Parts: sequence; structure tokens; C-alpha cells
Amino acid sequence: MSSGRIELKDVYRRYGATTALNGISLRIAEGSFTTLLGPSGCGKSTTLRIIAGLEPQSAGQVLIDGRDVAGLRAAERNVAMVFQSYALYPHMTVRQNINLPLAMRNMNVWQRLPLMDRLLASARDLAAAHRTKVREIASLLDIETLLDRKPSQLSGGQKQRAAVARALVRDPVAFLLDEPLSNLDVKLRLQMRGELVDLHQRTGRTFVYVTHDQAEAMSMSDQIAVMMDGSIVQSGTPRAIYERPATREIAAFVGDHPLNLVEVPARSRELPEPFTSFAFDTRLTNDTVVIGLRPEVLVPADDGLLAGRVARIEYLGSEAVATVVLAGDRTIRAVLPTHSVLRQPGDEIRFNFDSDHAHLFDGSTGARLKARLVPRSPLRATATGPVS
Ligand code: ADP
Ligand code: MG
Repeated sequence: MSSGRIELKDVYRRYGATTALNGISLRIAEGSFTTLLGPSGCGKSTTLRIIAGLEPQSAGQVLIDGRDVAGLRAAERNVAMVFQSYALYPHMTVRQNINLPLAMRNMNVWQRLPLMDRLLASARDLAAAHRTKVREIASLLDIETLLDRKPSQLSGGQKQRAAVARALVRDPVAFLLDEPLSNLDVKLRLQMRGELVDLHQRTGRTFVYVTHDQAEAMSMSDQIAVMMDGSIVQSGTPRAIYERPATREIAAFVGDHPLNLVEVPARSRELPEPFTSFAFDTRLTNDTVVIGLRPEVLVPADDGLLAGRVARIEYLGSEAVATVVLAGDRTIRAVLPTHSVLRQPGDEIRFNFDSDHAHLFDGSTGARLKARLVPRSPLRATATGPVS
């Protein structure tokens, strides 16, 4: 019994002079929720379509459950795809749309049956089995009451559910979803995220999900493969990608708030303002280093080592975003809690941050550096934890 393990080995896709995929390798575990995340045009849809068998790769291999599927057409790969555009047939009811993959599959079965009466008997049994299956799937997606409607009589979210139901009904080993939520409004998108995760858990199937929305990828996936310019630049858990981004570009792409980036010379003994109270914990040979600090890791503290003045406050309800001009005239943004007294423009402000949350990248290549940015001063009198 196949199980939905997918492996891409050094897959290339060229369109004339354009290289859409530049040697993609990825393992997708059975039953996982894996997301291809990246900006528009990086090759996500191409990758998905190659897995589905909707277009050929120029080089490399796709393996499904260990088997090279090069010779298999889309219909033979037993994977189902859901598109952003839903692709429902407008003249059919929801029931007919969902039933369609079953009906198409059975036409092949009928053609293979030798005797007419056997054909009729099995056709009746099959039709009954299909009706049951369609009802089950409709109930799973909570669209039972919509089965007799046409797609034009459905809302965006309901169309999406019908499209998902149609993909599920064949019981595929893997489920491929290409930006399925991007046509929905914000509230519905958030709700459908939860529903898809729930569906993944209940079906236990492999999900390969494509999105350019990092928040979607972070909140839904077991594994994220970040793609840029036709390559997978990092793959790992959402947490690993957020906490240890492999490059400055990836760090800037993930996270709800734009990353603060401050470039400093790396070889001088002392760091310039606003980092004069900090040092790198190892000697660096890079010319310049870019320090990446997420707005949400800056913690306001009276004894903070990063000092500045508030230039602007954007109040967002649950949080506020402060634009702060630090010593040395570097401007950064910080997310502040709103449950305490709100800062005002002109206020002085100081921040601390955990050294693990300061990402260091090479100034020219953008590659992540192992070094850490640590406070220069010895443990201060106020520190009472165990001395390490
Ligand atoms: P994404 O889904 O990440 O937005 P795509 O996989 O659709 O990206 O496209 C990747 C690259 O391949 C893009 O530069 C796109 O213009 C190019 N591309 C995709 N399909 C074709 C095609 N049929 N002919 C030529 N170029 C294509
Ligand atoms: Mg796409």
C-alpha cells in the first residue's frame, strides 16, 4: 500500500532560456504538511505541477513512495491537486463536481468488464458507493446542505471547500494545494487555515502546500521549504526557519514584522553606535556584518543596552510599533506591548534582547554567521541568576 512519501532529486525545469527550477532536492515525509514558501515567480507552482505530472521536468527525478514516476501520467500518480481558481465545472452541481473524479475513474473499470450484466450490477453498486462517499466527504467539509447548488450559488469559501472535497474524494496518497486560500478575504483565510490543518490531521495524508504568505506557512506546516529564484534555499521546521534563517534574505522574508538590519564593520575592536555596549563573541574576518533584529525581540528595559528616542508610534490595538532613532542615527522598529503606559514620540527608550535573537549575516554574501552579538560589560549587579 502506497503512503505518500515524495522525493525530489535534483529537479530542473527550463523554458527556453528561462530556468524556472535550478536543481531542486527535497524529501517530503509520509503524512507531513510540507509548504513551499517563496516570493512570486520563484518556482513553487512549477514544482507542484511536476510532482502532479502536469508538466515534465527537464532533468532530475520525482519519486513517490520510492518509485520514479517519470512514466506515469497525472491521473496515474494518485495525487490530487487544488488550485487557487477552484476549477469547478460551472454547469454541474456541487455533488456532480465532487463525484466527477470517481465517475471518471470508473469509466476505465467499466471498459475493462467483459459482461454486460456484470457491468450493470457493478455499476449500480458503484453508484451507491459513490453517493455514500460523496456524502461522507461533504460532511467532512461541512457542505452537505450545498450539494445541489451550482458553483455560481456558492461563496468563495464554499467554492474552496467544494474544490477540496473533489480532490479528497479519490482518496489520493498526497494532496497538492497551490495557493488555495489567496482568493479569500482575510477572516475566511484565517478560518480556512485552521480547517485545512484539521483536515490534514483527520486524513493523515501527505499535504504539499504552496504559498507566498509566510504567516500561512508558519502557522500550518510541519516542514517549510523556502524557495528563491528556482532553488530551495532552506528547509526545516517553521521554528528553525524563523529562529535560524540561513541567509539575510530568508530572515527578511519570514516574520510578521519587517526585519531591522544594521550593517557594521566587523574587524575593528569596538562596534560603532548603537552597539558600543556589545561585541562579537568570536573574531570575525568578514569586512562587514549585518545585524538582524526582529522588531518583536526588542524588550523595553530601563537598563537596556540599546538606547534611542521614539520618533513615531503606530497603535495597533494588541501591540504598538515604535519607530526609534538609536544612537548613531540608526532607525529601527520595535513592537511594544500596549498593556502598560504607551510611549510618546520624543520619549527616551532602551531595549535589551537575547543574544540568540540577534542574527548575524555576512555583509556581502548575506550568509548566516555562527558568531553571536553579546554584551561587553560583565554580569551586572542586578543579574541574580546562576553564573554560567
Ligand atoms: P511561482 O508559482 O513561485 O510564482 P512559477 O513556478 O509559476 O512561480 O514560475 C517560475 C518561473 O518560471 C517564473 O519565472 C515564470 O515566469 C516561469 N514560467 C512558468 N511557467 C512558464 C511557461 N509555461 N513558460 C515560460 N516560463 C514559465
Ligand atoms: Mg504560483
